[in-house]
Order: sequence, then C-alpha cells, then structure tokens
Amino acid sequence: MEWRRIMLFCIAFWDNHRRVYTAFGSNSTKRSRMAKSYLILDAYMDRLHIFPAGSPWEYAGPHGQDQWPDIFPDCGGSSQSPVNIQTVNVSLDQSLTPIHPVGYSTPGTGPLTLRNNGHTVALALPPSMRLQGLPKNFTAVELHLHWGSSSPPRWGSEHQIDGEMFSAEVHIVHYNSDKYGNVSQAMTKPDGLAVLGILVETATADNPAYEHILSYLWNVRRAGQFVTIPAFDVHQLLPKHLDQYYRYRGSLTTPPCYQSVLWTIFHQRVQLSVSQLERLQNTLYSSKPGPSPGLLQDNYRAVQPLNQRTIYTSTSVLLRSPSTFSTGQILAIVFGTLLGLVSLSCGIHFAAKKLRKVRMRAAEKPNDVVLQSESVQSFSSSFDVVLQSSAIQAEQVEKPTLP
Ligand SMILES: [Zn+2]
Repeated sequence: MEWRRIMLFCIAFWDNHRRVYTAFGSNSTKRSRMAKSYLILDAYMDRLHIFPAGSPWEYAGPHGQDQWPDIFPDCGGSSQSPVNIQTVNVSLDQSLTPIHPVGYSTPGTGPLTLRNNGHTVALALPPSMRLQGLPKNFTAVELHLHWGSSSPPRWGSEHQIDGEMFSAEVHIVHYNSDKYGNVSQAMTKPDGLAVLGILVETATADNPAYEHILSYLWNVRRAGQFVTIPAFDVHQLLPKHLDQYYRYRGSLTTPPCYQSVLWTIFHQRVQLSVSQLERLQNTLYSSKPGPSPGLLQDNYRAVQPLNQRTIYTSTSVLLRSPSTFSTGQILAIVFGTLLGLVSLSCGIHFAAKKLRKVRMRAAEKPNDVVLQSESVQSFSSSFDVVLQSSAIQAEQVEKPTLP
C-alpha cells in the first residue's frame, strides 16, 4: 500500500502550503520568503510527525536561546525583546494616548482556533479585531502566553519591571494594516507589528475570562493539536487601565526575532488563580504523541540588553525619580534597618550585662573598699596634718617674737 502513503504525503504537503499561504499571503520579499519557508517546513514536519513541532529552536538545550542567533541572525540584534523596564530611566511621552481595542468584545460570530504549536498555546484572532490609539491602525493576528513551571516554582513573564518577574505574560500580536497587506509582509518591517504585553500575577480567585482558553488546554495537549472554541469577549482578558503603559521598540521574542515590534506593556496586571496557573504549566506538551513527552514549561526568553533604546511611559504616574525607591529597594531598606536595630539592641544588652557583672564583683569585695576608704581617710588626715603644721609654721614665721 505504498502508493496510499505517497498520496497522503502529497495531500498533507499541499494542505500545509495552502494553510500557510492563506494566513500569510503571497508576498515575495527575501525575509518573508525565509519566514514562509520556515513556517511551511514547520507545518510540514508538524503534519507528518517527522520531528517534534518547533524542533528548529527551543528555550533550553542544544537549540536553546544562546544558539538562536546562529540560525536566526536577528536574534543577535541590538533591539531585542523582552527587556527589563527600569522605571527610574523611563521617560514621559504625553503623546501616548490610551489604547483603544476595537472589536475585542465581539470577535466575530464564528469559532476561534486554539493551537498548541510546541512553543506556546496560540489563539488565532479574526481581522475584525484591531487597535486604535497607536500611530497606525493595527489588525489582530493571534494571542498567546508565556509561563514558567510549578516544580520547581519559576515565574514565567518575559518582561520585567525593575528586575521583577511575574507569573506569566500574555501577548496579543497585531500587524500594521494601514501599510501592509498581511502579517507576513509586516513582520520583517521596522513599523510592521504592535504587540500588547499583559503581565499576569497570581491571586486566590479564578479569573473567569481566562477559562475561555484554559478549559480547552486538555484538547491541545500535544504539539500540533488544535481545537475550535466558541468566540468570547477577548476584551475581558485585558487589564482595566489601558491608559497606563510602557512603550518601546523591540522584537519578536521567539525566532526569527525580527526587530519589528512596537511594544505596549501595561502597568496594571491581570490575575490568575494558582490552580489556573498550574493548569497552564502542567497540561501541555512540547512534543507530539510518543514516548517520553516533555511538558511545555518555562517558555520565556531571558531579558535582552536595552542598549541605546528609550522606554517611554504614557503617564507621569509611572515615573519614578531617582530619589524614590522600588519595592525591592524599600524591602532592602526596611530589613537593613531592622537588622541594624537588632545589632544595636544586642550591643546594649551585652554592655549592660558586663557592667552588671563588674558591679556585682565589686559588691562581693567590701573589705577592699573599706580598706581603700580608710587609706583615703588616713591619707587625707595626714595631708590635713601637714597643712596644719605648715600653717602653724608659717604663722610662727610671719608673727615676730614680742620683745
Ligand atoms: Zn510572545
């Protein structure tokens, strides 16, 4: 039945081409051809189960982050993402208006596709979703997440604020639809993409909005699997304050790391419960069905050098003068002060104890004291006598003898 396998092979190959070209158009610039070839190869291997999905790169191991620039030169560029946002160095840009998502609450009537691509779980978004409040109109493409692991516990946000990581991070990718026909054309251009970054922290209560994604993870456990899910209000996944954010120019945080992203990192975090986060960390596999599957965890890139770039903020609320301190610095000062006070108390305690011992020792030897006081009295008496006799002698010298 070899002819049957060959036919299936051809059908799968054609279908992958069709899927990728449908999604990314037929642009023929050099970089988009490279990206397209990579995506076709990835989808091809994915469908035929030749290699684990995403095998050309990984977050750790022989194809890990340090090796990305060897295969994807842009990953070694000078404007890479993510970065550590040091709030003391952020500049205010009053032209940064609030982000205004359009069509997020009603993303079409059809179902949405959720897919495990071996690196993350990605939700394909319809072109009716777009962003206003940026220099251009940007159309939504996909939403995906980055996270850490529960054992050992590791936080998995990509961006950091003053060196602080968060539990996870959500990215919503858009392309510049004013200027480019599709994401394939846009992703290689400096003004091509806009990504919203949402930092996730843990809380006690479940976040019902994220259940629209998390409750379907079980259906896409293995790399390459996808499921269609009912459309839902994507706006509910965003934080409430869309006017407070950090803005800088950077890159895709995964290969091919094109430096084409206008980043918006919201200041306000969203919350997931610990159990929701653990479901994200412990449900998906980075590999296809087969022996020894590897959990899809720690899919975050390390922070990259900021180099000459400036990070801007939309509001003076997020500005921090050099004289103010971050949470970490405040904790360090508080603990340092407490330690100082404890040391001082110990010093005083031991000094007082020593003084008490000296006094007690002195009290245990009363004769010495008496003797000493007697000696002093005797010395004083002798001194008085000497003085008196001297005075008498002087008197005798001064008063002439009467005739
Ligand atoms: Zn991402």
